[in-house]
Amino acid sequence: MARIVVLGAGLGGMAAAYELRETLGKAHPVSVVGLGDRFSFTPSNPWLAVGWRTPEQITLDAGKHLGDKDIAFHDSGAQRIDADARQVHTGAGEVLDYDYLLICTGPKLAFEEVPGSGPDGGHTQSVCTTPHAQRAWTAYEEFVKNPGPIVIGAVQGASCFGPAYEFAMILDADLRKRRIRDQVPMTFVTSEPYIGHMGLGGVGDSKGLMESEMRQRHIKWITNAKVREVRPGEVVAIEHDDQGQALREHVLPFKFSMLLPAFKGVDAVAAVEGLCNPRGFVIVDKHQRSPKYPRIFAAGVCVAIPPVEVTPIPTGAPKTGFMIESMVTTIVRNIQAELAGKPADFEGTWNAVCLADMGDTGAAFVALPQFPPRNVTWTKVGKWVHVAKVGFEKYFLYKMRNGTSEPIYEKHIMGLLGIERLKKGKP
Ligand SMILES: Cc1cc2nc3c(=O)[nH]c(=O)nc-3n(C[C@H](O)[C@H](O)[C@H](O)COP(=O)(O)OP(=O)(O)OC[C@H]3O[C@@H](n4cnc5c(N)ncnc54)[C@H](O)[C@@H]3O)c2cc1C
Repeated sequence: MARIVVLGAGLGGMAAAYELRETLGKAHPVSVVGLGDRFSFTPSNPWLAVGWRTPEQITLDAGKHLGDKDIAFHDSGAQRIDADARQVHTGAGEVLDYDYLLICTGPKLAFEEVPGSGPDGGHTQSVCTTPHAQRAWTAYEEFVKNPGPIVIGAVQGASCFGPAYEFAMILDADLRKRRIRDQVPMTFVTSEPYIGHMGLGGVGDSKGLMESEMRQRHIKWITNAKVREVRPGEVVAIEHDDQGQALREHVLPFKFSMLLPAFKGVDAVAAVEGLCNPRGFVIVDKHQRSPKYPRIFAAGVCVAIPPVEVTPIPTGAPKTGFMIESMVTTIVRNIQAELAGKPADFEGTWNAVCLADMGDTGAAFVALPQFPPRNVTWTKVGKWVHVAKVGFEKYFLYKMRNGTSEPIYEKHIMGLLGIERLKKGKP
């Protein structure tokens, strides 16, 4: 019998817990340590921030649904990990022994790296968490009564660019619906070297397509930008050339702004000696296992991934939903193999598949594998992506309510697109 503890009840952690239960059966106790009692479907946060969703529609009671599958749930967060003793200490003072630990704790949001940014004491909104998106909605409701300029973007060191584009386009769509778009100059500020880079070095013709979408929506942009500070009602961004030399300072007035921060690893994980890189992301080998602590695996945003390429202003590589599920499946199959006394040599594909909604249309990015040169790389824009993204939301929430990790029709559709979770040649 192996005791398995999963840290984080987000996209990766919930999927991991269900998949462990499904794959290993009930012989091995699985418990999840979350921070708070709700699972949030993070990809829907941009819709929440414009009032197109309510928190109830995109969150669910993690403990109840995990409990239905006999998975124990602790909602007080991991406060400390003692990797040598193989124990997790929770915020409520519980001590959980583990034989395997799966870390799926997502990002810590590094707003402090840009003075004046972020919703807690800063001047910009965020869609990174559901409570942040809820606060952004409150601010947006006020904004539409007295509109003015909007600044949206992703700062230096950011890795998750899709939601910044998505939110800019969704705002544009919402403002057009309200017939007040003509009163709202919009600027997109990004550390990417060009529009459509996405932290992936571009995906097919993402540059041309995304520039065209921005032009059609009258959204101006500044690339290679470092945000120096945010003052009340003003973003100060320094534009750089492709050698990383400062070109000019832009002082951008705003009445509403959302800037995605750089990410780091969460404190309890970052504090474990030798587990993480300097930014607190868990170092893993190709089997998703910590080289220093073989009983620890990690999946999701908390994993250390090198940037896809060096950019004049630092950017990171995004970790998207399907890639995270590929990491999860890799871990579960490796634990299963090890428990059966077989080599734990499964490897994930880490394919990047992302659907970015644009309000009434959308953009799909497919990069197989994530690092160039790639076997498959394309971006497509169309109304079908908007429909597919709504489907993805409904479907993922269905999976989280019902405790299934990969129903057969998902396998079929992804298979048709040539998208697999595990590398070929494995049983
Ligand atoms: C706004 C936004 C939109 C996105 N949209 C898409 C999209 O459309 N498609 C796509 O493929 N990807 C998207 N992504 C990227 C990615 O899929 C998500 O970020 C996804 O939620 C990451 O999953 P995760 O499990 O790594 O982290 P999360 O889902 O963030 O889960 C981490 C969990 O760990 C918890 N936690 C933190 N600290 C502790 C602790 N000490 N102890 C226990 N628990 C802890 C957190 O509360 C959280 O619940 C988006 C990301 C963002 C920010």
